[in-house]
Amino acid sequence: MGIIVQKFGGSSVADVEKIKNVARRVVATKLAGHSVVVVVSALGDTTDELVALARQISLTPPEREMDMLLATGEQISVALLAMAIHAMGHEAISFTGYQIGILTDDSHTKARIVDVRPERIMCELERGCIVVVAGFQGVTVNNDITTLGRGGSDTTAVAIAAALGAEKCEIYTDVEGVFTADPRIVPEALLVPEITYEEMLEMAATGAKVLQLRSVEYGRNHGVVIHVKSSFKDGAGTVVKEEDEGMERPIISGVTRDSSEGKITIFGVPDRPGIAAKVFRPLAAANINMDMIVQNVSTEGLTDISFTLSLDDLPTAESVIKDIVEELGAKGYNTDTNIAKVSIIGAGMKSHPGVAAEMFDVLARNGINIQMISTSPIKIACVIEAGQVETAVRELHDHFQLNEEAITSETL
Ligand code: ADP
Ligand code: ASP
Ligand code: MG
Repeated sequence: MGIIVQKFGGSSVADVEKIKNVARRVVATKLAGHSVVVVVSALGDTTDELVALARQISLTPPEREMDMLLATGEQISVALLAMAIHAMGHEAISFTGYQIGILTDDSHTKARIVDVRPERIMCELERGCIVVVAGFQGVTVNNDITTLGRGGSDTTAVAIAAALGAEKCEIYTDVEGVFTADPRIVPEALLVPEITYEEMLEMAATGAKVLQLRSVEYGRNHGVVIHVKSSFKDGAGTVVKEEDEGMERPIISGVTRDSSEGKITIFGVPDRPGIAAKVFRPLAAANINMDMIVQNVSTEGLTDISFTLSLDDLPTAESVIKDIVEELGAKGYNTDTNIAKVSIIGAGMKSHPGVAAEMFDVLARNGINIQMISTSPIKIACVIEAGQVETAVRELHDHFQLNEEAITSETL
């Protein structure tokens, strides 16, 4: 039998009992005859705690040092899991990203995997050992430690599965799979048995943090089918894969929300060619990704530019923006952390006009003001006030009847 890669998230290894539960699952897979590679995240909220610790020292810590700090979380969990497997009488060996050659670029705190060198893992698997790998971390060609962005252990697992040509890549988490909405907000949300990479990419990009966006991209690019399952309950979970003929194509397959972004608006920017580049080039140079960007119609040669970005990047972005405002002679800027994004996603949207209007109607009926809108062929996203986002998710889920599969499905 072939290789299985199993990834367990922070909540699945939050305490000693849970670590032992993971060890039991992993050993059971091994005893069923598979070669097993386990990827683990840091225990519980360790990464959040490390981020908070750093912020007490500096709001804009050097990103290289941030990675040095954050990577320690996963080093604790791999060692403990390997010990738990040993305690059950089975051989296990733990590795950091550095030790098993997860090579990344040098974009600290959001590095991209450029290569995985599977030789050491293969060697240990051939000895019959269970290999335990620290998720979320890699190393640059200069041996600097990097991390892959929050939720990055998912990407570690998919990249290792691709490099080893694994038979399966299973992501175990604290819910039973991918649902039509976050089951913590919409308890009646339905489990989605199968979803295309395309839809899962949009779900992940708009806040369904059950899979990190990059892991889905990596899976799609390398043909790795991703199984999302519960660490605590048995069940089929969700399979993320290429679209095939038998697959359902709901008009709307999910509603998501993202409360991890803030908004910056620059006022009174002279409206002439090249200005947008002048604003966004220094932000890109500071390793900051923008999500939505809106430029208003100009009045008297001046315009306003608003954009959203991760709250984690806000302090760094502000320091960059201050200089830009001065350089461009703009009137000023403000930041807004009281925003959230609500999105609806569905491949069936392509052939069903009017979905956007319906979404806007639902928000209007609930007194929710839309601040920004962005669309793709299979997604509509609206920025709204943070406090209204859960109502928005519930109302949209209800309106599009996502808890009643038969009504929203169309057959090919
Ligand atoms: P892990 O620690 O296992 O990596 P995460 O917290 O990163 O787990 O992701 C799992 C969480 O994602 C769930 O607890 C759930 O609240 C959230 N989530 C958000 N949207 C969805 C969705 N559409 N389907 C399933 N889970 C979702
Ligand atoms: N521990 C990291 C985080 O909390 C990576 C992960 O959980 O996937 O983001
Ligand atoms: Mg996660």
